[in-house]
Amino acid sequence: MKALIKDKPVRGATLTDRPIPKIGDNDLLVKVRAAAVCGTDIHIYQWNEYASSRIKLPLLFGHEYAADVVEVGKNAGHFKKGDRVAAETHIPCGHCFQCTTGLQHICRDMQIIGVHTDGAFAEYSVLPAVCAWKLDPGISYEIGSTMEPFGIGVHAVSKTKPAGKKVVVYGCGPIGIYAQMVAKFSGAECVIGVDVAKERLSLAKQMGTDVVFNPKEVSVADEVNKITKGFGADIVIELTGNKNVVNDASKCLRRGGDMVLVGLYSGSVEWDLVNNVIYKEANVFGVTGRIMWDSWWTAQGILLSGKVDVTPVITHTFKLDDYDQAIQTAESASGGKVVFKL
Ligand SMILES: [Zn+2]
Ligand SMILES: [Zn+2]
Repeated sequence: MKALIKDKPVRGATLTDRPIPKIGDNDLLVKVRAAAVCGTDIHIYQWNEYASSRIKLPLLFGHEYAADVVEVGKNAGHFKKGDRVAAETHIPCGHCFQCTTGLQHICRDMQIIGVHTDGAFAEYSVLPAVCAWKLDPGISYEIGSTMEPFGIGVHAVSKTKPAGKKVVVYGCGPIGIYAQMVAKFSGAECVIGVDVAKERLSLAKQMGTDVVFNPKEVSVADEVNKITKGFGADIVIELTGNKNVVNDASKCLRRGGDMVLVGLYSGSVEWDLVNNVIYKEANVFGVTGRIMWDSWWTAQGILLSGKVDVTPVITHTFKLDDYDQAIQTAESASGGKVVFKL
């Protein structure tokens, strides 16, 4: 099978021919139909500090995908050949405190598909049955491949009660736009998107975000203050992972508001806790991944409601052969989600 492998500790990747993998008793062998490029894949491709500190070579990467089941392991009989599935990226151990108390997504011994195990930029992939989500017939493979990042948007918004509220989302990459759409879907009065990339801001607008701001052009906190008559936003969701942004984002939050942190910072962050959290009595939430399977059920419900169409967020599709172009497109931040169609 064709497989995109990270095999050298330098920028790039190699498309190779590999045998179709063998599955274990708890796995499914799936034929990949669509696989989306995630920020993590870009890190792996670039071979930056994030990648080199956690990845063992060679690695078949890619983890956001939708596929057809072609073979079922002995202990995975609740799936059958021909089932359409999407992949939950986090492989929970099933036994630790978190796994036994409904918190599998923050399992102590969690592994990540396409980071710790071989992933999905290939014609076939081994999907642990515990990570397989049966795709509703009303959801395409391409959209199915983006349910994983969409689910992060769902999870982030689910920490808050956005109905009738003003919500600021820092970051208008795919997850940011998904979070904005979910906030709007959930009844937010006004959703404000913030990003430095023009294309992303216009995509956010196109997808229904009420107002967008570019911090290179305006003071976002001042603008949010105007919109909120000096009170500040009820909810701020921070997705950029940019260390310099967290204090600015905090300035947009009203006293007693909800601050949801999702973006991953490299290293520790200087955050004025006294003014941004303590005096404000801000509620601060960390969010990682998706709640299994609550975020998925909600994501599916939103996608099937007919009230949101996430299709335009996928701005580019590629064949696996054009992987360089695909990953460089995702890297350029000039658009939304990049998806391989297989
Ligand atoms: Zn991802
Ligand atoms: Zn566990």
